[in-house]
Amino acid sequence: MYKKKRLLHIKRAEKAFGIKNTEEETADSFSYDKEYLYDALVQSTDDYIYVCNMKTGIFRYTKAMVEEFDLPGEVISDAASIWGAKVHPHDKQAFLDSNKEIAEGRTDCHSVEYRAMNRKGEWVWMRCRGHLERDESGEPLLFAGMITNLGKRKRVDHMTGLPNKYECEQEVSSLIHMRPNHAVGIMILGIDGFKHINDLYSREFGDEVIRIVAQKIQSLLPQAAAIYRFDGDLFCVVFQDATKDKMGKLFEKIRRTFSHQQEFNNKKYYSSLSAGAVLYPQDGMDYSNLSKYAEYSLDYAKHSGKKRIVFFSGEIMKHKTRLLDLTERLRDSVEHNFRGFNLNYQLQVEADSGIIAGAEALARWGYQGEENVGPGEFIPILEACGLIQLVGRWIFKTAAGACARWVKLCPWLTISINLSYLQLADPGLIYFMKRIMEEINLDPSHIIVEMTESTIVSDISALNNVFEEMRSIGIKIAMDDFGTGYSSLGVLKSAPADIVKIDRIFVKDILTSSFDMTFIRFVVQLCHDVGIEVCLEGVETEEEYEIVRSMGLDYIQGYLFGKPMTGDDFESEYLS
Ligand code: C2E
Ligand code: CA
Ligand code: CA
Repeated sequence: MYKKKRLLHIKRAEKAFGIKNTEEETADSFSYDKEYLYDALVQSTDDYIYVCNMKTGIFRYTKAMVEEFDLPGEVISDAASIWGAKVHPHDKQAFLDSNKEIAEGRTDCHSVEYRAMNRKGEWVWMRCRGHLERDESGEPLLFAGMITNLGKRKRVDHMTGLPNKYECEQEVSSLIHMRPNHAVGIMILGIDGFKHINDLYSREFGDEVIRIVAQKIQSLLPQAAAIYRFDGDLFCVVFQDATKDKMGKLFEKIRRTFSHQQEFNNKKYYSSLSAGAVLYPQDGMDYSNLSKYAEYSLDYAKHSGKKRIVFFSGEIMKHKTRLLDLTERLRDSVEHNFRGFNLNYQLQVEADSGIIAGAEALARWGYQGEENVGPGEFIPILEACGLIQLVGRWIFKTAAGACARWVKLCPWLTISINLSYLQLADPGLIYFMKRIMEEINLDPSHIIVEMTESTIVSDISALNNVFEEMRSIGIKIAMDDFGTGYSSLGVLKSAPADIVKIDRIFVKDILTSSFDMTFIRFVVQLCHDVGIEVCLEGVETEEEYEIVRSMGLDYIQGYLFGKPMTGDDFESEYLS
C-alpha cells in the first residue's frame, strides 16, 4: 500500500515538473506481496533483517535472531529496552546514541557495531545497518535494515599470538553465565619496570621482551587456565574452578622463572612480574568489576615491592581510593603554581673532616594542616600521571636558586638534585637547565644531578648522550642508591658518572656485617681507580662513622651530620 502511495506521489511530482517516466508502465504494473518478499529475503541471508514501524515504534525481528538472542518473540513493542539490555555495557553508549539519532529524526542512516549477549551467554559482535524512510510530509515512517552477526570473531593479539582482552572478557562472561556455581579466577600480570625497559632500551626490544614473557608464562600454565594479552605489558590468566592456592602456585612458578637475569640480543635485562588476582563470586559478579579489582590489586603489588601476587581485599580498595585522591590533589597543586611543593636540604660533608661539602635537595609535598606525604609515595604518582617533568623542572629551578644564593656564603658548595629517569624524556630539559643557570648566574659545576644506578648503567646511547651533554656544560652526575640495582661492580669502569652514592642498606648492619664493610671498601677502591668520587649515605651513629671514616670515602650524608631541613633552617644552621 505504501509503495502504491509513493508511486502516486512520484507521478504527481513528475506531472508538476513535466518529467515523463518511460518506465512508469513497468513500475506500475509490477506488484508483489511484500510479506513474501520479506520471507524470501529472510530465508536467503544469514543476516538478521529488522523492520520498525516508526509510527507505533513496534519492531519485527527474524526468527533466527529471536532464537539466537532469546528474544520474547518476533514482534516486540519495547525493543529498545529488551535489545538494549543485551548490548555489552562498554558498547551501550554508542548503540544508544545511534538509535537516538534515528528516533529523533536527526539522521536517516544507522550504522553501528556492538557486542550483544546470545542465548549461550557469549558476547557476539553485531554490525547493524539501517535506513529510515519518511512519508510525503517528511515524518519518519519505517526504519529497516540488517544486522550482521560477526560471531565471536576470535581476536588475536598479533604481537604475541595470544587471544586479546575482548576474548578474555568473553571467556570470563561465558564461564560465569554457563557455570554460575563454579569459581573463576582472574590474575592480571604486569612486567615490573617495563616502562623503564621500554623507555631506556628500544621499543622493539620491549616488544621482544613481551613476546618472550608471553611464551614463558604459557608454558607454565596448568590445564584449566588460559592466558590473554592485555594492553602494554599486561597479561591475564583465567582459571576455571579456581582457588587462591592454585593461583598462588602458578604465580610462584612464574616468579621463579623470572627471578634470574634474562638475555636477548646480548642485552641483559630483568623482567620480574607482579600479579593482582580476584575470584568470582566472592570478589565480584561480573567481568567488568572483577577485572577492575584485579588491576587495583596489581597496582598494589607493584607499590608494595613488586615480584609478588596480591589478592583483592578491602585494603586494596582503600589503597586505590587514596591513590586517586592523591593524584587529584597533586594535579591541583601543580595547576596552582606548585602550591604545597617544597624542598628540604640535607647536609653532605667531607668524609674525613666533617666539613660541609654541599646538600641534597629532597622534595616535600603537603598543605598546611594536611598530613605530609613522603616523596617515596608522591614521586611515583607524579611519574605515573605524567606530571614529573613539570614538577622536576620546578625542583631544579628552586634548588638551583638556593644554590646560587648559598655559593655566595660557601664558595665550594654543591647542590645535588634528584632526577627521575622519566625526566630524561623531556627534550627541552638541558636547554631549560642551561637557561635557568644563566639567568641566576650560577656556575653549573655547583650542580650535581642524581640518577639511580639502573638509569645510568642501561646501555642506551641516547641516554649516554644526555649525560654527556650535561657533563659537557659542567654539571656532575651522581649514581644514586648504588648497590640496590642489578648491575655488577664492573659497570663502574665505564659508567658516565662523577660520583657514586652507596646506598644506606650497606651502613645499616655495618657493625656486624663484614660483607658490607668489604663491599664499601671495594667500591671506593674501584671508583678511585677510574676517577669517580664516592659518597656514603645513611650514616646515623658515631659508631658507624668511626668504622667508615677510615675507608677512604669522599663524602658522607646521614642523620648523624644532619637531617633534611627547610632551606631557611639549612642556611642558618650551616651557612651563617
Ligand atoms: P634518595 O635520593 O636516596 O634520598 C635519600 C633519602 O634517604 C632521603 O629520604 C633522606 O631523608 C634519607 N636519608 C638520608 N640520610 C639518612 C639516614 O641517615 N638514615 C635514614 N634512615 N635515612 C636517611 P626522602 O627525603 O624520604 O627521599 C626518599 C626518596 O624519594 C629519595 O631517595 C629519592 O629517590 C626520592 N626523591 C626525593 N626528592 C626527590 C626529587 O626531588 N626528585 C626525585 N625524582 N626523587 C626524589
Ligand atoms: Ca638521591
Ligand atoms: Ca640514595
